[in-house]
Amino acid sequence: MSRSATATIHLGALRANLVRVRALAEGAKVMAVVKADAYGHGLERCARALTDADAFGVASIADGLRLRAAGHRQRIVVLSGPDAASDLAEMRRLRLEAVIHHDSQLAMLEAEHGGEPLKVWLNLDTGMHRLGFAPERARELHARLVALPAVDKAIVLMTHFASSDEFDSDQTARQTQCFLGATHGLPGERALSNSAALLGWPEARGEWVRVGGLLYGLSVAEGKTGADVGFQPAMTLTTRLVAINQVKRGERVGYGAAYECPEDMPVGVAAIGYGDGYPRSARSGTPVRVGDAPAAVSGRVSMDLLTLDLRQAPAARVGDTVTLWGPALPAEAIAEHAGTIAYELTCGVTRRVLFTEDGV
Ligand SMILES: *Cc1c(COP(=O)(O)O)cnc(C)c1O
Repeated sequence: MSRSATATIHLGALRANLVRVRALAEGAKVMAVVKADAYGHGLERCARALTDADAFGVASIADGLRLRAAGHRQRIVVLSGPDAASDLAEMRRLRLEAVIHHDSQLAMLEAEHGGEPLKVWLNLDTGMHRLGFAPERARELHARLVALPAVDKAIVLMTHFASSDEFDSDQTARQTQCFLGATHGLPGERALSNSAALLGWPEARGEWVRVGGLLYGLSVAEGKTGADVGFQPAMTLTTRLVAINQVKRGERVGYGAAYECPEDMPVGVAAIGYGDGYPRSARSGTPVRVGDAPAAVSGRVSMDLLTLDLRQAPAARVGDTVTLWGPALPAEAIAEHAGTIAYELTCGVTRRVLFTEDGV
């Protein structure tokens, strides 16, 4: 039997989510973050649906190349910038913009002799301690960059938040204050907010917001789904039921005999597993839908197959559609049962899954 695991990408949801992001951003420009193959949804198809964005954010030059090859003419920002001097030529050729976060990158720029001015985003580390320059260096770095003929004078100042999804922590307010203090009086646009900050921290809105998760309808706040905050999930992951077996009370199901049937019951087998990106860490009890009925993972997720408790789905038949996540079953609920976040689930859907799309 051919594999039936299918990820359907809802282009209308992507478009509607961008409209809602724009409304929340209140006039700020929107960078649609499409790294990691658009959070697993497919770079080209998502960029097509998100073409009204003011810029795209990517993690690699290769993704910038894919977007240019698909005909996009927007601004494209490479979020971790150049790794080597040869990247600068490639970025100019493709008209990509570079986030600069480290002295090694500054040295590459300072070693250049001319060239088309490159657009630069200067990343300051205000407390996340991953990428970025010390904020007290903002003035010095800005002065060095504007002095370079090969750098465009309109430098965007940016920072990234560590905990903007924690609406009752003061970390984001402290990072915002640090950023505003360090950049006070410097010319140029500001870009602070990711999805969660767009929702929870309006005072951190600069001239740009950089939004990923919300565009895909994914939650950015603990205990909330994307739909809870007005966004539509952009992916539905489905497969088919390939067997239904009656299993006796006390019998065990699957690898490691991890699930013991509490009564005589129907156990369904769905054609999906961790080889497709359904998380092996999903525990027994993780919700699934068979047709319109609820069902639950029972026993360990295997590579190709998933065993299901069908006691609440008595009408289930072999061949029925099984939904793993989508608008009717938030990926956030699955993530919670698997000890992860919804972002990791959509990013993890593997290449053997058939991708299709609906909407235009
Ligand atoms: C991934 C990323 C974003 C987008 O984050 P979301 O939580 O998906 O909105 C924004 N800025 C930077 C620098 C990123 O790496």
